[in-house]
Amino acid sequence: MIEPTLKFVTPGDIGMALPHRVLDNLMEFLNRVDNVIPGLASKYTLLYAPEIKYYSMRAVVNKFMETTVDGIFAAGDGAGLSRGINVAAATGVLAAWGILMKLGKEVRNELINKIK
Ligand SMILES: Cc1cc2nc3c(=O)[nH]c(=O)nc-3n(C[C@H](O)[C@H](O)[C@H](O)COP(=O)(O)OP(=O)(O)OC[C@H]3O[C@@H](n4cnc5c(N)ncnc54)[C@H](O)[C@@H]3O)c2cc1C
Repeated sequence: MIEPTLKFVTPGDIGMALPHRVLDNLMEFLNRVDNVIPGLASKYTLLYAPEIKYYSMRAVVNKFMETTVDGIFAAGDGAGLSRGINVAAATGVLAAWGILMKLGKEVRNELINKIK
């Protein structure tokens, strides 16, 4: 078993973070260089890959995630409002409450008055 030299990382599947095309190129590189450095393409070779996130867009929203376009709500990463599961989920809940209130439905939650 190979011991990682870099200790402050969380091992994972880089296929979850990098596009398929990049992985194809990496594999081709490893296999070709394996001809001059035998063993490089071993199944024990560890690859370190940075996970880089870009957030260029951010929707302008009110407290309940309604955008400046009437009736259009935005939540989560795609709207630039979160960078993780928790906040993405929280903005989703806020948007759901906002949509319900917009439709004139009652929202029963003890937190709702703190947000209004
Ligand atoms: C590799 C990786 C690791 C991560 N690790 C963590 C972690 O450890 N902890 C953490 O908190 N966060 C982590 N995140 C971030 C987290 O996954 C996101 O912040 C969260 O999933 C965002 O939720 P979301 O609902 O906004 O978007 P998503 O989960 O991306 O959901 C968007 C959905 O919309 C669908 N969709 C896209 N376009 C369309 C369309 N045109 N029509 C219909 N559907 C469409 C997509 O298929 C997808 O199902 C990680 C992200 C990545 C990429």
